[in-house]
Amino acid sequence: MKQKKLLYAGKAKSVYHTDVEGKLIVEFRDDITAFDGGKKDVLKNKGSYNAEVSAFFFDYLEKNGVKTHFISMMDPRHVVVRELGMIPLEVIVRNIAAGSIVRNYPFKEGTKLSPPVIVIDFKDDTRHDPMLNDDLIIALKLATPAELRAIRKSALEINRLLYTLLAKQGILLVDFKIEFGRQGKTIRLGDEISMDSMRLWDKVTRESLDKDVYRFNKGDVMATYNRVARRITTRTARPAAMKKKPVAAQKIRYESSGRAAKPKAKKR
Ligand code: C5P
Repeated sequence: MKQKKLLYAGKAKSVYHTDVEGKLIVEFRDDITAFDGGKKDVLKNKGSYNAEVSAFFFDYLEKNGVKTHFISMMDPRHVVVRELGMIPLEVIVRNIAAGSIVRNYPFKEGTKLSPPVIVIDFKDDTRHDPMLNDDLIIALKLATPAELRAIRKSALEINRLLYTLLAKQGILLVDFKIEFGRQGKTIRLGDEISMDSMRLWDKVTRESLDKDVYRFNKGDVMATYNRVARRITTRTARPAAMKKKPVAAQKIRYESSGRAAKPKAKKR
């Protein structure tokens, strides 16, 4: 598969057309930003840590029945995905109160939220991603009521699967942000799930293992990303596609070499 022209460049990822209809290549760059782009840096290897963790989660979710855009990993920072019509919603699932929910509402940090709380923001940097409700989502024609139900159901299932997976590694899934898109009439999980888009705490020490380390200068960001990427992807029952070698040494095969990293994905 050949990478063609740039379709979209976000704050930390670039999306490219390919020579195959309906397939795109996502590049995870080394850029890191916080506070609406108010803080930004380039951190060597950050893209590959996020790409690896995201591919690991998407592969795991697909194998557990969640419809996603993920097809295969091309190399340590490029992933092949299905082309989706992205829905400009940021779906945030919270298991433990932290971050903006503590700043904006009278929750004490660390309070367990059971059942989990779903917050949906409008993905619009110029408006600072304002929070939506169902009426606004429908009035703005961002999603139909049926799509919204499918999105909430999928978000809760993704939360259940990832919370359990991470708990086995001694990691608390505090909260995370996901985005969905349409492939025809099917709603699929798109974008990424990585240390940039989740809040992860060590279960015992409550140490941050995510972008909060960067946001709040809590320590060495890249050392944390490297450590958590290894912790997430090497100690679990790893998907066959990624079992071969430890994270650092793993060489992901190029699809174009004819030796796809995992068995040929069925057409979905
Ligand atoms: O800042 P806040 O507490 O609302 O973030 C909740 C979760 O969503 C965090 O894990 C954060 O990393 C993620 N998030 C994101 N992109 C945004 C806003 C939040 O990945 N634009």
